[in-house]
Formats: sequence, structure tokens, C-alpha cells
Amino acid sequence: MKAVVYEGPRKVVVKDVPDATIEKPTDVLVKITTTNICGSDLHMYEGRTGVEQGKIFGHENMGVVVEAGDAVWRVKQGDRVCLPFNIACGCCHNCERGLTGFCLHANPDPEMAGAAYGYANMGPYAGGQADLLRVPWADFNCLILPEDAEEKENDYVMLSDIFPTGYHATELARLRPGDNVVIYGAGPVGLMAAHSAVIKGAAKVMVVDMHKDRLALAEKMGAIPIDDSDGSAVQQVKDMTEGKGADCGCECVGYQCCGHHGKEEPNLTMNNLVQSVKATGRIGVVGVFVPQDPNGIDPLEKEGKLAFDFGQFFTKGQSMGTGQANVKTYNRMLARLIHEGKANPSMIVSHELPLAEAPDGYRHFNARDEGWTKVLLKPGR
Ligand code: NAD
Ligand code: ZN
Repeated sequence: MKAVVYEGPRKVVVKDVPDATIEKPTDVLVKITTTNICGSDLHMYEGRTGVEQGKIFGHENMGVVVEAGDAVWRVKQGDRVCLPFNIACGCCHNCERGLTGFCLHANPDPEMAGAAYGYANMGPYAGGQADLLRVPWADFNCLILPEDAEEKENDYVMLSDIFPTGYHATELARLRPGDNVVIYGAGPVGLMAAHSAVIKGAAKVMVVDMHKDRLALAEKMGAIPIDDSDGSAVQQVKDMTEGKGADCGCECVGYQCCGHHGKEEPNLTMNNLVQSVKATGRIGVVGVFVPQDPNGIDPLEKEGKLAFDFGQFFTKGQSMGTGQANVKTYNRMLARLIHEGKANPSMIVSHELPLAEAPDGYRHFNARDEGWTKVLLKPGR
């Protein structure tokens, strides 16, 4: 089969690899129809993680079941399924509590609770940017899609990660109807947090970024765009909230490589959040901060640390929630919203490319080139 394979910093290639197969009786094999490039892939692409050469990327996957292991009873050949990026066993201490992003069985490394397809330090699993994908514990992990699965493919594929992740950001921030919320980052995840906040009935949804094309999408989904090119985001949020600050906030940026935000300085979103959220407000962090960033702009970043004003955070009595989204907690409910036409996450899709063009997709998306908001790879084409 063909697959997108990591060869080194800023180098992915599409090449022939051995076909994925059923390895355990609880597996299914899925023929991939759509697999997205994610901002999380860029941490590996940029060389910011210890991902090994030869890893097949791809954790935002959807397709058709072509084979089922002997112990699989719920999922059937021919089912159209969307796969949460978290691989979870369904029966460990964490999975039983809905914390599928922190499964204790799927990742053999006890320090790194949680597993994913095609990701550094997230277990030995291959990714789905390929013709075929092996799905472990398939009865637990597969979301079987309704009859409009093909018609709304580009909506449903967002349930693999970014729509639940954006929603998770608003849950971590404890967003309630009528709240004013500020979201840092208008990448795919920030835009999905904005979409979720609008759906949940937030009063003002303020989205901060420096890229006009991405801010325009935020505005299209009913949010207020805030351009931070001049570093005035905190003041703009204050001006829009009678000087009080937002009720809650979401961090949807994470580590960014040098120059992405147009300034030769470390990522300051955490401090901006502390300043633009009111005292006692809650902050949800879904942007990924990798343990070490060899490409970090300042020495702290290189060590995986973050310049963060804990004193102000404490003085304001704020609180924070962090981490990977437990996709399965949200994907059933969000699938219904898509089915009923009440959510349309595909509005952020900018490109649909055949698998062979993945290297181009990575290059443009990594550069945040204008108009390259969300890239979907279509292996069948
Ligand atoms: P992305 O990296 O393109 O989006 C980040 C956006 O933040 C960009 O539009 C960029 O211009 C903007 N930005 C950069 N610096 C900023 C600043 N100082 N203030 C405001 N905006 C700034 O892609 P993405 O797919 O949206 O991913 C965002 C983050 O979410 C990444 O760190 C990714 O790893 C993470 N993520 C986390 C989870 C999870 O489960 N927690 C899942 C998926 C992605
Ligand atoms: Zn992702």
C-alpha cells in the first residue's frame, strides 16, 4: 500500500510499505477514504519530537471496514467509520471513566498514558495517511456513521480529532451559555473551539490570530476576529468586555516554531490568556506543548518549559484544564449535530488532495500559507 512516511525534519514522502493487516482478533482493517493533516502532525514534521524515521503519519482517519477480526461482533464489513485519534482499550481504569485519551493499556509506556495512530511517543501504531489502517479494539473505538456518511464525509472526518478537541477546549474552560470567551489560535482547532462555543450559546466568541484568512473563517462562523499582528489582543479583549476580561479562555496554539507568529519571541499565548481572562476565570489548554523542542526560540522552550506568569495566574484565582481530548466522550453527540445540520465543521476545509500530494500539503499547511487552513488527503483518488 502507499503511505505518508516521515524521513526527517520537514521531509515526508509517499511510498510503498507493507499492507496493514489484522494482528489481533479484536482488530478491524479500514480502507481509508479521508485522512487529514493536523497541526499536531507539524510538531513531528518540524522535528520537534523524537518520532522515528519510517513512522506512517495520520491520526484523523475515516473509511470503510474491509475486514474484521474473529472477536469483533459490533462493527461489520462495509460499515463507514470515523476513528477517534485516541486508541483506547475500553476497559482500563481511565477508559471506564471516559478518559479514553489516557488509556492505560494502549500505550505500553507508563509515563505516556494515552495512544494514537501515527504519533510520536503514543504507542507503536501506524497512522492512516495510507490506503489501509489497522484499528485495535475496534468494537470500542469505531464510530459507525449514519446513512449520510458519504455525503457529509468532510464533516464527519472532523470527529476523529479537531471538532471534539475544540469542544473539549470549551469544556476544560467550563464555558456556559451567555459567557464571553476568548480563543487563542484560529487554526483548525481554534476554529472548532469557536464553532463549539457558538453552538453552546456563548455571548461573545473572540478569536485571536495573526492570519487574516483564518480570522475571516472565525467571523464566518459567528465569532469576533481579533488580529494580534500588533500585539494588542489583550487590550482588544478588555475593550470588548467593559474592561473586565473574558469569562473563560481557550489555548488552541501550542508550541509554534520560530517565526510563525511573526515575532522572534517565545509563544506568549498562556500569558495573554491569563491577562485577557477575568479573575477567577477558567482556561482550557488543548494546544500541544511537547516535552522538548530542539527548534525552540528561547532556552526554556528547548527544555520543554514555558515562560508562564504563574504569579498573576494565582493572584487572579484562575484555574486551568489541559490535555488531549477524550474524543469518544464527545463524538457521538457531535455526530448527531452534523447529521441534523446543526454543525458543519467542514466549512474550514481548504484543500482535498490525493495521497501522492501529501508532501505539498504538509509544506503549505506548515507555512500557514494563505488559504491553506485544513488539508484533507483522499487515498482513493
Ligand atoms: P495550527 O498550528 O495551524 O493552528 C495554530 C494557530 O495559532 C495558527 O493559525 C497560528 O497563526 C496561531 N498562532 C500562533 N501564535 C499565536 C499567538 N501568539 N496568538 C494567537 N494565535 C497564534 O493548527 P491546529 O490544527 O489548529 O493545531 C493547534 C494546536 O492544537 C497544536 O498545538 C496541535 O498540536 C493541538 N492539538 C491538540 C489536540 C488535543 O487533543 N489536545 C488535538 C489536535 C491538535
Ligand atoms: Zn489531529
